[in-house]
Amino acid sequence: MHGMSFAVINPATEESIAELDAAGVEETDAAVARAKAAFPEWRSVAPTDRARLLRRLATLVEEHTEELARIESQNVGKPIGGARAEVGMVAQVFHFYAGAVDKHHGETIPVAGGVDLTFREPLGVVGLIVPWNFPLNISSWKLGPALACGNTVVLKPAELTPLSALRLAELILEAGIPEGVVNVVVGPGRIVGQRLVEHPAVAKIGFTGSTEVGRTVMQGAAETIKRVTLELGGKSANVVFADADLEKAAAAAPYAVFDNAGQDCCARSRILVERCAYDRFVELLVEATRKVKVGDPENEATEMGPLISAQHRETVASFVDGDPLFRGDTPDGRGFWFPCTLVEATNDDRVAREEVFGPVAAVIQFTDEDEAIRIANDTPYGLSGSIWTENGARALRVARALETGVLSINSNSSVRASTPFGGFKQSGFGRELGMHAMDGYSEVKNVFMAT
Ligand code: NAD
Repeated sequence: MHGMSFAVINPATEESIAELDAAGVEETDAAVARAKAAFPEWRSVAPTDRARLLRRLATLVEEHTEELARIESQNVGKPIGGARAEVGMVAQVFHFYAGAVDKHHGETIPVAGGVDLTFREPLGVVGLIVPWNFPLNISSWKLGPALACGNTVVLKPAELTPLSALRLAELILEAGIPEGVVNVVVGPGRIVGQRLVEHPAVAKIGFTGSTEVGRTVMQGAAETIKRVTLELGGKSANVVFADADLEKAAAAAPYAVFDNAGQDCCARSRILVERCAYDRFVELLVEATRKVKVGDPENEATEMGPLISAQHRETVASFVDGDPLFRGDTPDGRGFWFPCTLVEATNDDRVAREEVFGPVAAVIQFTDEDEAIRIANDTPYGLSGSIWTENGARALRVARALETGVLSINSNSSVRASTPFGGFKQSGFGRELGMHAMDGYSEVKNVFMAT
């Protein structure tokens, strides 16, 4: 693989924006060796100093918001406004984990005959494998807690979207984080990613990607009993009860599935609507979807850009046959465009069972609360979801019944720097963000001293 170069494409123009050399096994091993050599020093950095370095990184990210947002927008096809907001979150994540460094600590436990202490130890070298849909964001969700806990890192961005991670690596050095603590390796998943999974010196894999590849990662990690965190696919439900503020729910629903052109693991791509409100809600939903501004990601008003690649567009297209409820417009000319699409479905249809990862929503009817819960849970996934109702008791009752890691009530919101994020069932396990992520990048050590 070494020496083979590949082009990085802007999906809105189909033009090459960079040529990179693909790393292979040799480069991956060298990166692991550098991370291993940097570990003893990094784990010994005083907590307040480690916090200060992470805070400086957060500030540098803030200062480079425009540059990082442009890179992300051009490489992923993200509307520039959304890309800026994502960079804003990256800074928040590093600020949060700067603050977390000395707040994640052990305990003393009453025992007979001595003193019992627990320590939070870093794992060592961690391999972080990231998908193409939120390259910088998801990198930060893993880097923040990994570095705060004192681990060193090999970060593997997706082949399609490596540019923001490479720029971030420069800012990491500029912040004063020592060389070797974070190493970025760009190359194919089945070579670089797989090598990280197999490498005996890598203690943990923090993986975000498809459930299919997640399964391979989990199998590969078994050989060396590696720790794994898996953030995988989703097929989340947006449950709209007749007693909801239907205008508000319908205005929000398109953005819960068409944001990032539907290439979002949290996409609420099954819109479940109570039968007695169905016609009214669908009318409002179609109106709201018609208003989504699809077009040039560089235009400040744009809300949805293209898909990531021509190949991915073919996959997305395969989910739509017959006459949809609604099909939006797309720009003419180059770019991997796909229209906002609403399809009427039952929960047994392929469009409701598989993750489309594009701007296609399945609209499904239910008759009562029990059926809503049954349909929402009738999926192998369990990542996110929303519940729309003005009845507070119902909202909490349904929230408790849904088999999913992240829920919002009367909102689309899924992620915040300080709150745990992750899946139930085949959406994976382990939690990112918040203090919960610190548990995934440390081991508990128990020490007993006889007194
Ligand atoms: P993918 O699984 O194809 O790739 C993810 C990463 O794994 C890439 O960096 C890829 O190079 C690498 N990889 C591929 N084969 C590998 C192997 N054999 N061993 C190790 N690494 C390997 O996913 P994608 O297409 O980049 O991203 C889309 C998927 O990611 C969707 O299913 C989406 O739901 C999921 N996703 C989940 C979350 C979450 O937090 N749950 C967030 C974003 C995306």
